[in-house]
Amino acid sequence: MLTGNKRIVIVSSRYGSDRLGNCEVCDKYADRMYYLRLSLEYTKRDGSKGFTRSGGRSLFGHLECLEQVAHS
Ligand SMILES: [Zn+2]
Repeated sequence: MLTGNKRIVIVSSRYGSDRLGNCEVCDKYADRMYYLRLSLEYTKRDGSKGFTRSGGRSLFGHLECLEQVAHS
C-alpha cells in the first residue's frame, strides 16, 4: 500500500547529450546528463516500509532541470 511519500534520487550518468539526447526538461544540449528516479514509498505486509524500484517516473537532463522537477 502506498504511503504517499516519495523519494527522489538524482544520479550522474557518465554521458552527455551526444550519447543520450537533449535534456528531457528543457530540450537543450548538456555536457553531462543526470538521471532522476522517483520512488514511491509503500508499506509491506509486515509493516516495514519500502520503496518501489521502477514504478516511478524517470528523466534524463541537466542537474538544475532535474532539481527543479524534483521540487515542483
Ligand atoms: Zn535542461
